[in-house]
Amino acid sequence: GNDSTIGLVDPLTPVPSKAQAKSKTQVSLELQAVRRTLPIWSFQEEIRSIISDSNTMVLVGETGSGKSTQIGQFLLKEPWMARGTGSSGKKYGGCIAITQPRRVAAISLAQRVSSEMGTPLGRQVGYCVRFDNQSDDSTKIRYLTDGMLLNEILHDPELSRYSAVVVDEAHERSISTDLGLGLLKGIVQARQEKKAPLKLIVMSATLDVEKMAAYIGVSPAAKPATNEEPLVATDKEPLAPICRIPGKMYPIETFYTPMPIEDFQTAAIKSIFQVHYQYPCPGDILVFSTGSEEIEELATAVEELSLQMEADKPKIQVMRLYASLDPAEQQKVFIKGDPRVRRVIIATNIAETSVTVPGVRHVIDCGKVKTKRFRHQLGIESLLVTEISRASAQQRKGRAGREGPGTCYRLYTESSHGQFAKDTEPEIMHCDLSGALLTLSARGVDQVYNFPFLDKPDRHSFEKALLVLNMLDALDDDGKITEIGKKMSKFPLPPVQSRVIVAASEEENGNENKQENVLVDVIDVLSCLSVEGNILLQPTRWNKASEGAKKPVDPLLPLKKKRKKAAEEDSDDELTVEEKVHSKRMEIVHPSGDHLTYLNILRRYLSKRSNEQKRFCQEYQVSYPLMRKVENIRRQLRGYCRLDKVGELPRDSEMKYESETMVARYPRVSQDQADKILKCFLKGVGVESVARKVAGGKYRTLTASGNSASGVDVSVHPSSCLMWERHVGNDSKRAKKEEGESDRRDEGFGEAVMYQDVVWTSKAFMKCVSKIKLEWLEDLWVFV
Ligand code: ADP
Repeated sequence: GNDSTIGLVDPLTPVPSKAQAKSKTQVSLELQAVRRTLPIWSFQEEIRSIISDSNTMVLVGETGSGKSTQIGQFLLKEPWMARGTGSSGKKYGGCIAITQPRRVAAISLAQRVSSEMGTPLGRQVGYCVRFDNQSDDSTKIRYLTDGMLLNEILHDPELSRYSAVVVDEAHERSISTDLGLGLLKGIVQARQEKKAPLKLIVMSATLDVEKMAAYIGVSPAAKPATNEEPLVATDKEPLAPICRIPGKMYPIETFYTPMPIEDFQTAAIKSIFQVHYQYPCPGDILVFSTGSEEIEELATAVEELSLQMEADKPKIQVMRLYASLDPAEQQKVFIKGDPRVRRVIIATNIAETSVTVPGVRHVIDCGKVKTKRFRHQLGIESLLVTEISRASAQQRKGRAGREGPGTCYRLYTESSHGQFAKDTEPEIMHCDLSGALLTLSARGVDQVYNFPFLDKPDRHSFEKALLVLNMLDALDDDGKITEIGKKMSKFPLPPVQSRVIVAASEEENGNENKQENVLVDVIDVLSCLSVEGNILLQPTRWNKASEGAKKPVDPLLPLKKKRKKAAEEDSDDELTVEEKVHSKRMEIVHPSGDHLTYLNILRRYLSKRSNEQKRFCQEYQVSYPLMRKVENIRRQLRGYCRLDKVGELPRDSEMKYESETMVARYPRVSQDQADKILKCFLKGVGVESVARKVAGGKYRTLTASGNSASGVDVSVHPSSCLMWERHVGNDSKRAKKEEGESDRRDEGFGEAVMYQDVVWTSKAFMKCVSKIKLEWLEDLWVFV
């Protein structure tokens, strides 16, 4: 085990058998040949030599040049990698950390490198991402998300287990990368003073190299003393050494649309088939889209249309690529298929630099990206589709020219391209800073405003975040971290969610009734909220859940057929799939809303024997893969609570509702218990995420930008279980129109609701919504 995470094996990751491990060695021999063809291969001596003389370094090279997979293997046997003793007698080093902004990247890289080295995953080469640790004390190359690295700094401020930290994809400038870099600067210095140096390598595809090199600075490795000063121009800051791996780029022909485009999906489909008809195979098409839903929609459309192609045209194979995709699914893009088949890979900007898709000769770029934005108006963060930068557009286009001359179709006009921002704004400049500032405070940074940020957010954002942390009781009025704040920072969750756990743990103090443990329930709900995606499948996805089940239910065909049949026979005893699922779901809905409905679902799911869980999921159209993840997260969150002694959890064996009889006894959460749970959530989301009913049955947020002036109109999202009752009688067309109509339907949800999230489509929709009582606000915050 290790001290920062709980070493639990993800039940979804298969453990290789001995026979498999053997064939892995053969695989690794073949992979050795591939390694030698990578552009970085001939630079390994140079890289080793630079980093042996210096503690810091910047490494730039095109996507696919081999940085992420090779750097660890190049440095593994270096003398400075060995575990050694610092001046204080403490042991340091032995492992190399490679950070990634995305968990999928960390997982897939660890898998790739362990097969290159012919070792089982989780031993020499491993990974550690939020809620999933596949590494042990013998691990030498450890891929981790930059968030996990921050978590490790909390438990081990000197990062003593590492000899080197490699910050990969630094150009993405995720908020955690930026914080990590700032903290690492300090750690490099501290470790140098302890005579146990830590190496810091910053890697990137496109980067303002000099700015980064100046930022991380020079730190010569301890060598026999010379009087030589570092070689730098006198009026500039000293730069860390830079190594550039030249990339090969073939010419790319670029096309723009003559007119601005509104319907990107249709435009993308047209472009895909135009390219397919115009250019011979091989030569895959990479389409940049915005998010998983858009990708699924587009992919399905292309798949259907490709079935109607003339027989003499090459076949089309559609592939999806986005961050929440299953790693095994993602792995498929690396396999070059049949050269007579055209692959169409539809991806988010994950394919911009993070994942190298081989075989691409044509790029179709929608010119948009989904980013987290802080809505000052609402005081919350949400995902918004925004224009990409010119740097991004250039990078996307570049994906077409790696293996030969290519083409790039930009679904925007040339003049709008000219108006894109030059560079992508770092996340820290437009995000909610509360998580970041709590992270820094908990790591001993007192004056957060003076922290050496690579780019510093404006003062207003700092003030706003400090206010939020103060409202959450994480920081006191002097900006010092409180006991609550310290507890909150132990959890790999946003402050709004970790506050809920701490609130629930306080609730549990002295609670003798183990059957009604609020902390247990709160963790269950949070686990459901922490998976990427909704555990409750939406009607358009209902066929998905039936995959792998014995008797698949096709949601569309039978629906149509049955409808027709029902109309003909004038019989109403045959239910459509939608109706069946709906009536099933009405059994588990909790009247208060989504939070407790999730709890109801998880309880039922857990009470089933494992061989019945899949069927349960199908009956209720709950995502089975996500439920497996929920279970895992739940176990990990309980682990964090025990590790850091937050609250009192009964032993697993004493846990309620993990048997059929218990569920039978507690079919629904009692109202009293429900109120307690919801109050904990309210403590987290705060007054900022409460909307009260106003005239006309609409909901309006209580506050706008921190003061209680006029709020903002918000509607309940159609995916909320509060909308289910309105589906009775079930007309699928009506369900689809729901988004447009939901103002009218919001009537009667009670005097106020709280929500976890807001999405902006045609207007602001609240997601994960529960009814609350306004008087609770007074119980929780005296000032309201
Ligand atoms: P860089 O970090 O410079 O972008 P990588 O080290 O990620 O480059 O990739 C080097 C090569 O290894 C690329 O050709 C890429 O396609 C391949 N590769 C990377 N990860 C995997 C994986 N999980 N499975 C198969 N091939 C991979």
